[in-house]
Amino acid sequence: MSGELAIGFHGAAGEVTGARHLLSAAGARVLLDCGMFQGHRQDALAKNRDFPFPPESLDAVLLSHPHIDHSGALPLLYKKGARAPLYCTPAARELVSLMLLDSARLQESDARFFNKIHAADGQTIAPLYDEEDVRLCLARARDQALGSALEAAGVSALFLNAGHVLGSAMVQLDAPAAGGRRRILYTGDLGRRRSLLMQPPQAPQDVDYLLIESTYGGRSHAPIDGLSESLAAVVRRTMAEKGKLLIPSFALERAQEVVVLLERLRRERGLAKIPIYVDSPMAVEITGIFDRNLADPGFAPAFKEYAAKTGDDPFGLETVHYVRTKEESQSLNDKPGPMIILSASGMCEGGRILHHLRNNIGNDTTTILIVGHQAQGTLGRRLQDGAKKVRIFGLEHEVWAKVETMHGLSSHADQGDLLAFVAALDPKPRKIFLVHGDPDEQAALAQGLEAAGVKDVVRPQFGQVVELD
Ligand SMILES: [Zn+2]
Repeated sequence: MSGELAIGFHGAAGEVTGARHLLSAAGARVLLDCGMFQGHRQDALAKNRDFPFPPESLDAVLLSHPHIDHSGALPLLYKKGARAPLYCTPAARELVSLMLLDSARLQESDARFFNKIHAADGQTIAPLYDEEDVRLCLARARDQALGSALEAAGVSALFLNAGHVLGSAMVQLDAPAAGGRRRILYTGDLGRRRSLLMQPPQAPQDVDYLLIESTYGGRSHAPIDGLSESLAAVVRRTMAEKGKLLIPSFALERAQEVVVLLERLRRERGLAKIPIYVDSPMAVEITGIFDRNLADPGFAPAFKEYAAKTGDDPFGLETVHYVRTKEESQSLNDKPGPMIILSASGMCEGGRILHHLRNNIGNDTTTILIVGHQAQGTLGRRLQDGAKKVRIFGLEHEVWAKVETMHGLSSHADQGDLLAFVAALDPKPRKIFLVHGDPDEQAALAQGLEAAGVKDVVRPQFGQVVELD
């Protein structure tokens, strides 16, 4: 294999979870991301458990960002024998430590629950890894700042800003091939051209091969300009009705974006008389990490300027109530409105938001504000689609709350952003591989790229290995 350059697509191929791409070059092996597959239990379990390469053969593991679909199988990789250093940005290392420990705990409690209810029929499941495995994996983690290069067995790598979430990076690789050195760019997840907090991604030059995400390859997001206005209207109504505004939110990036929007309303529009509670232990921890990393180069200059104006407190640690204990969370039930409760999970599938929904969904002064993507089959999606009755913790509830959606908050590039990113590459890459997207989104993006004159667009299959000249 020496002298040959190849890339293997071992996840996020024709789907959005389980990102794992293996670059092989002149005997070197570099793994890009090692994400968890989500979806149907048996299918996902097999894909999560098996690595089609010996983990001990890796020279380096490069993590684009901390989301579980990119990082969630790292502890298993190290449990199964990987010894290579794990490189990620300093902020990503803080975030991924928290998220992997949480993932281990969740798997352990899921397994306990499953084994308990299947005790009679003898079926058992085991977590993929435990907290000890996570610590083993994190012991291999090395900080790699944006813009500084590293070398692994003859392959050089550089992290570039991806603009997706705090700590996110694109990976630029320069590797030997039969015809000379080749540049490969892996976008990881790519941010938008304009975002509330993050600096937009900038395309590097002289890219030979591009691996680009395609989550929203066929869709356009609403612009971010009208966000404050629409949020202000919902907050004003909640204040007038003395109601409760419940915002289900992802703990990483979305929760911080919404807090910044709310804090700006308080500072700049005088919406001061409504208490804001962030009631998700994970969102509280993550906001602490954001607060400690205000100087991170991934943040947009406009956000940094705003942060400076607030005396370096853009997330309102002085004014917003960050709820930590269960007792504090439960005490919100007895407090009268108006109030805003931001809680996880983002699709109402678990976490403290379920308690707040159960307690408030039957009141017509409650507003449930949807601020993120709701997958088919989730409680969040049923509410968004206008369900009049829903089940929470096994009991049916009538929905008297108003349910509204605020479009425009997304950490992912849409079709226009993706096409603009590719258009900025000069010269055009020899080949573009679409990863991290469902088939219909990929088809739409491929069409858009072809219409823009980009010819060689490949949609790799799961497990496919492609040789690069
Ligand atoms: Zn992501």
